[in-house]
Parts: sequence; structure tokens; C-alpha cells
Amino acid sequence: MQVGKEFRCGVAGLVGRPNVGKSTLLNRLIGSKIAIVTPKPQTTRDNILGILTTQDYQILFYDTPGIHEAKRALNKRMVAQAKEAIQDCDVVTAITDIDDPARIIDDQGVLDALRTAGKPAVLAINKIDLIRKEILLPIMDAYNATGLFEAIVPISALSGDGVDRLVGEIVARLPVGPALYPEDQLSDRPIRFLAQEVIREKVILCTKQELPYSTAVVIESFEELEKLVRLKATILCERQSQKGILIGSGGRMLKKIGTLAREELEHLLRKKVYLELYVKVDEDWTKSEVGLKRAGY
Ligand code: GDP
Ligand code: MG
Repeated sequence: MQVGKEFRCGVAGLVGRPNVGKSTLLNRLIGSKIAIVTPKPQTTRDNILGILTTQDYQILFYDTPGIHEAKRALNKRMVAQAKEAIQDCDVVTAITDIDDPARIIDDQGVLDALRTAGKPAVLAINKIDLIRKEILLPIMDAYNATGLFEAIVPISALSGDGVDRLVGEIVARLPVGPALYPEDQLSDRPIRFLAQEVIREKVILCTKQELPYSTAVVIESFEELEKLVRLKATILCERQSQKGILIGSGGRMLKKIGTLAREELEHLLRKKVYLELYVKVDEDWTKSEVGLKRAGY
């Protein structure tokens, strides 16, 4: 630690619409795959804590579900979680990916939530690798005019551009205080949860259309030995036809999902993984509170 510099520690939630790059940023910051990243929106269902510790600070990041219109029970739950996450923040890290100042309207939900919360906030304008340079200033002006942000930092979560500056702006607004987690800890999520997320990510990658949003993964049993993890998991879907897609002809789809998930888990856990995967129809797990509980949400 530098002389005269006090250690800072606090919570910096990541909020923004689905697909703006919250999980990508979290993964870049923490440098290991914690949140699930997919090209399809609305896939981060829980608040995931990533912990960034240096000699000078410890930032606790929550990757929140995007703030947007709540339609079904699952969406409502996601919005409630996002709003709650803002309340728990020392500083809110808002993210957007707009490429035209007029599109600031897309972020109305996020801006409203921030206004209600009244927390210090910094804004990351992400995906600048895709934005024309001359459009960046008008975009920054548009957000600046909201009066909600103490700092606005253009970044590319993908290339890492601007990310250090963003971290600097976050740290400057954290309270002075000791670290809350051991420095080698990257997440408060148990391996069991990571396994669930990895399997769900593979389901989303391997299947198409509305199917991903009607699936959930339940870990039925989990046994961790010194060099081996034994895992039994069930993929829940809403209809018999979806079950057919998930299993595939001759069981090929399920095998593909299982193989991809196992390979990634072995890489993440640095252990051999035995994965048994099943598919089950649970008619309305996304629609009812009872169904969500059953699926572990
Ligand atoms: P989330 O829903 O906000 O968590 O968004 P994700 O992190 O899952 O990212 C959504 C999509 O945007 C993925 O396809 C990412 O690869 C992509 N993405 C994220 N950050 C960047 C970036 O800086 N540049 C570009 N070109 N794509 C990005
Ligand atoms: Mg995400």
C-alpha cells in the first residue's frame, strides 16, 4: 500500500439493461469466469458477487439482472433483485452500450432506479470498440445532463480499454475500511452454483429461440472429492416438445450440452468432473412463485 493512502472497501453494483456487458465487465475485472456471458439477453438471473482485491482496495461487485419491464414472475423477480442491489451499494456502477445520444431513452428504467436510490453513481459507456469516435462526446453529454453521474467513463469490457480508469473512479468513492473477504477469494458463490450456471450457459448456447428462457438447472446432488467432482443435474423445461429438443435425436443434444459443461467445469475447478444430466418437464416453473422456488430461484 502506498504511504498516506488508506485502504478502501465497499460494494459497487453493476446495473444496466440486459446485454450491455455487465457480465463481460465483471469477468474482465475479476479475471476468471464467474458470471455467465452469452449473446442473448436476460441470462443473469441472480446477483453474483465478484471480488477484486489489490493492496489498496477491495471492491465487491454484484452483477445484477437488467432493469427492464417486468412481465412474468421471473422478470418481476429480476427487477426486484436489481433494485435491492442498488440499495446495498456504496457506489453504483451503471453500464450502457448506446451508440446514439437519442437512444438514452432506452436507459429510462435504469435512470429512474438511480434517481430513486439517490446513491453516488459512475457510468461506464461500454462497447466503445463499436462506437464511432465523434459520437462519443454527444453521448457523454446526454448522460451528463441527467445529473445522476459523478463520473462517466467510456470503456470496452471486451478489450479492457478504459477499465482501469473506471476502477479508479469507483475506488475513489468507496468508504475507507478493511477488506471483508480474504484476498484470494474471487466470489461468494459456492461451486454448486457455478456448476448450475455453467450448465445453463451451455443449454443457452446449444439451443435456440424461446427455449433458453424456459429452462432452469437444478443440481440434484453434488459431491466434491480431492481430485474429483461428482454431479447430478436436471434441466427443467416447460413443455414436452422442449424436452425433445433438449434431448435431441439419439440423445445427441443432451450429450453435447453435457460434454461442453463438463469440459468447462473441469477447467474451472481443475478437477475431474463426472456429470449426469437429466431433462424434466415442469409445466409452469417460470410463471409461478412455487415454480420458481422449485427451480431454486
Ligand atoms: P449482460 O447481459 O449485461 O451481462 O451482458 P453480457 O456481458 O452477457 O454481454 C452481452 C453481449 O455483449 C455479449 O455477446 C458480449 O460479448 C458483448 N459485449 C460485452 N462487452 C462488449 C464490448 O466491450 N465490446 C463488444 N463489441 N461487445 C461486448
Ligand atoms: Mg449478465
